[in-house]
Amino acid sequence: MSENPLTPKQIKTLNDISKLPAEEQRIKLQEFAKTLSPEQLAFLQEKQQGCIFCSVAEGKIEAKKLYEDDKVIALLDIRPATRGHALVIPKKHYVVTGQMSDDEVAHIFKIANKVASLLFDELKCAGTNIIVLNGPGSGQRISHVAVYVIPRYEDDGLDFLWKADEVGAEHLDEMYKQLKGKIKFEKKEKIEKKAKVEVVKDDEEERLP
Ligand SMILES: [Zn+2]
Repeated sequence: MSENPLTPKQIKTLNDISKLPAEEQRIKLQEFAKTLSPEQLAFLQEKQQGCIFCSVAEGKIEAKKLYEDDKVIALLDIRPATRGHALVIPKKHYVVTGQMSDDEVAHIFKIANKVASLLFDELKCAGTNIIVLNGPGSGQRISHVAVYVIPRYEDDGLDFLWKADEVGAEHLDEMYKQLKGKIKFEKKEKIEKKAKVEVVKDDEEERLP
């Protein structure tokens, strides 16, 4: 499981709710759930139900593993969309890729790419769709990051294409203005290296009349 994304105050509220009578507990829990972010909600749901992918990572559920290292597992999907449908999951529980470090993101896509090559070579598929359902609002069935590698075959009946909207130049300009140049890169190092400036007072001077 991931680190607890709930605040100490929220954890206290949950503890308080757990002491209430069952019916009252249900009502208070529903109210509490409305105050949570999607990530916090997914965390709570998984705490109740257990995360299938975490169970796979911990070896509690058997899987048809194609590859495994200390960070990721590539496995066959038990409900394949097509022949050879595979996925790569991080061993740590993440709901969205934004929670992962740059290195972890790079690694999971590196392995997904290797899996795609395997499917091309072994199954002679015509192409692959590499898909990430990112976060609870994306249609994720399991709130744990997975990179799906779906081999495509002629007449396989799948269609991942979306209906494109005809927007005007104004809409694109607006989006561009709002988003350009704002991608955030981590600055952790800079913060850590920032030297502490200590102010040294000269006591002698202050005592002067
Ligand atoms: Zn998980």
